[in-house]
Formats: sequence, structure tokens, C-alpha cells
Amino acid sequence: MRPLPATSAILTAMDLSHVLTKHGGLLPAKALPRRVLTRAVRAGTLRRVARGWYATDPDHPGAGVVGSGCELGCVTALRSYGVWGTDRSLHIHIPHSSAGRGLPDGIRHWSHAPRLTGWRAGVPLSVFQACCCLPSEEAIASVDSALHLGLLTLEEWRDLCAAHPVRLHGLRDLVDSRAESGLETLARLRLARHRPEVQSQIGPWRVDLRIGSICVELDGFAFHRDQFDADRRRDAELTARGFTVLRFSYEQVMFRFAEIDRAVDAAVGTGEKQAVAAIRAENRPYGA
Ligand SMILES: [Zn+2]
Repeated sequence: MRPLPATSAILTAMDLSHVLTKHGGLLPAKALPRRVLTRAVRAGTLRRVARGWYATDPDHPGAGVVGSGCELGCVTALRSYGVWGTDRSLHIHIPHSSAGRGLPDGIRHWSHAPRLTGWRAGVPLSVFQACCCLPSEEAIASVDSALHLGLLTLEEWRDLCAAHPVRLHGLRDLVDSRAESGLETLARLRLARHRPEVQSQIGPWRVDLRIGSICVELDGFAFHRDQFDADRRRDAELTARGFTVLRFSYEQVMFRFAEIDRAVDAAVGTGEKQAVAAIRAENRPYGA
């Protein structure tokens, strides 16, 4: 009979990376058995960044606040959970009981929380901070992303809005957990400024957004040849079924939205003209 492996060996093989992912790459020493921790440090997998705290990356953004009684908050904390966000500033959650000295430069969110012992705020608090801090559309993009990833429930979102009706006024019903990317959320909200009929993630072909017979598809940063081909095949299928497919880039959504507005308006105008012409043709007397 083969001997059972030592506990530390089991844990090392089991999933050190899982533990690291769960803690966002920065974990307290107590998260691992001492022997596993020692081995990971000797192997260079982990480095001590503060008393009792270890990270895979010595430049981890949480390393500058952990142990200070403060923590990362707002969009910085949300990004550490994998939530969509473009703001790269450092947002720090600081209790009023803390002097906030020695912290790195960043945007500070003060609260009445007691001294903090972790390195990042929880998702609901971070979402609340982001909604108070970011432009509304970017905040909703982060909320959509948190909902879509299952990090925030719709009930938690509604509870936040009910608890802070003044700060979150007007945002409650703008969220849509079907949005698969922040880019999609931003496009949906910007298109809906003048077009209340915008819909998201309509099946069975799962286009990103739809306005009547116009399908709007958004290309993110990543380029994959397989995806490129699949997208074009779907565009062809939708066009064959009578839809107009418009495809826009990340840069157009983020920085040149007027181009999208003009293209959609032109496509809507063309569609309306075609519809009117079709109705006239149907009503025209035979041979006229
Ligand atoms: Zn903030």
C-alpha cells in the first residue's frame, strides 16, 4: 500500500493558484499552512509585502495599503475582482478613525468603518463608492459587469439604491446583467440617450444591441481569427434575414461616439424609407 502524501504536499498540489486567485493575488499568512507558505516563498512564488501578508507580485496595488487600517476601494477594488473598469487611478477606502498617513497617492473615500484588516473593500461597498465617484455611464458599466459575473445580486443592487436613494438617484433601473462587457453597457446607454427602443443581447443570434431591424455589434480589444470568422458568418446570416448589421470598435464607443450616432441614424433612416417604400409598393394598384 502506498503511503499517503504529506499534508503540505497535498495542499501544494491541490491548488495554490486557486487560493491566490481567491485572494486576488495578495493573501494573509494564515490563508496557507505554514509549510506551504514557506515553500512558496523559497520557490519565489510568493513574496512578503507587509507584515503577515504575501503576494505573487511585489508591486501588487494592495501592497501599499495592507496593514495600514485602510484598503483599496471603489473601481480599484472592483478591478481586482475582475469587474470591468477603465479608470486606472488608485481609489482608497479610509475610515475616519485612520489618519490616512503614509498611503500612496490616490482618490480617497472616507467612511465611518472601523479599522480595516484586509486590503480591498467588498463588492457591494465598492459598487456604492464607484457610483458616487465615476461618471454615471461608467459606474453602470461596472455594476452590469459585477452583476454579470455573479459578484453582486440584483437584490443587493436594489438594497444599495434603497439605502442611498439620493446618492444613487436615477441609476437603479439602468442596469442590465445581460451585458457581457462594459463596452456593451456604454454603447447601450449612449445609444439610448435618443433611442429608448435599444435592446441588449437579443437571441437567437445574441447580437450585442438591437434597434428595430438594426443590429449593433461591438469589437473589443482582443482579435481572434476564429472569432473574426464566426462574427462575419453571423453578420451574413443576419443580413440574409433582413437585418442591418453595424459593427463598431472599442475606440469608437469610448472616444468617437458621434460616428456611431451618425451611422445608426443613417441606418434607421434608410430602414424607415425602405419600410415606407415597401408599404407603398404593396398598396400600389397593379400596373401603376
Ligand atoms: Zn472612487
